[in-house]
Amino acid sequence: MTETMKAAIFVKPGEMTVREVPKARVEQPGDALVRVVRACVCGSDLWYFRGVSPHPQNSQIGHESIGVVEQVGDEVTSVQPGDFVVLPFPYSCGKCPVCEAGFESVCPHGGYFGASQAEYVRVPEADGTCVKVPGSPEDYDDETLASLLTIADVMSTGYHAAVSAEVRPGYTAVVMGDGAVGLCGVLSAKMLGASRIIAMSRHEDRAAVAREFGATDIVPERDQAAIDRVLGMTGGYGADAVLECVGSRQSFDTALGLIRRGGVIGRVGLPHDVEISAEGTFYGNIGIKGGPAPVRHYDLKAGLLDAVVNHEIDPGRVFTGVYDLDHIQEAYEAMDQRKVIKSLIRF
Ligand SMILES: [Zn+2]
Ligand SMILES: [Zn+2]
Repeated sequence: MTETMKAAIFVKPGEMTVREVPKARVEQPGDALVRVVRACVCGSDLWYFRGVSPHPQNSQIGHESIGVVEQVGDEVTSVQPGDFVVLPFPYSCGKCPVCEAGFESVCPHGGYFGASQAEYVRVPEADGTCVKVPGSPEDYDDETLASLLTIADVMSTGYHAAVSAEVRPGYTAVVMGDGAVGLCGVLSAKMLGASRIIAMSRHEDRAAVAREFGATDIVPERDQAAIDRVLGMTGGYGADAVLECVGSRQSFDTALGLIRRGGVIGRVGLPHDVEISAEGTFYGNIGIKGGPAPVRHYDLKAGLLDAVVNHEIDPGRVFTGVYDLDHIQEAYEAMDQRKVIKSLIRF
């Protein structure tokens, strides 16, 4: 008899359910099998839920999780059963020139998880992917587990926005987007030394977390009004750095309107319909950097894992709703309707 597990299933836009599916397993010698302890819903999952981006119907979904290694393939050397791990949303070989340069998220031998909202997940390229956490999940409280979950994606992605935007001490940074990634971008700009952090938000619950994470100013305006507001705050010059954490054309146009000449827009929002003028960015000496975040690199090499474990940062504050897998529909709906900032799934 085939072993089964419970998994979230994307039925169709607007409809999630939970079904018994064949249990994930080790398929390749480099794989690990992980029992999921915490998973969550991503802003990018909402693009599917809203029917804006296509996703196969009646299929598994999810790419952010932490858990305990249950089994490993013959070639895996860096983790063993019982190890507590963060699973970055991209898997990667960890040893090719792209990975060694710190861009595991675009490893040509890697890919992205797509079935993490489930009791078990198969981890390809386990040695180059797993981020080992000291101890076991029982050693951590709920808040720390939530923060560890953010370094599977949103915190590392926000950090990538800040690094890509070349935030430096004393800078004025603008953060576009007040979802979990944007809020983590605020925290990251603070970590990199920005002295003024302007969060674009018009939702009080999100603005409150942004302030807690280090935002000095909240700007609720949009489009030209937002540009005028930031230009007014910066003597007409614009922001030194912009963290673009939305990906829409509207957000990008605003970012281009308020970046200082010679500044860099760090982009981590998945682009939808964005057009960038080669000429406009040329005459402003505007840099545009970013893409999928090299999560593992930031967790291990930039110290995000240590910062969470040592309670220096508390990015898990972005989870304002907690659900079990059986309530996956509610977890999606609450995020879709902005009743919560981000939904955490407990197992
Ligand atoms: Zn995500
Ligand atoms: Zn690689």
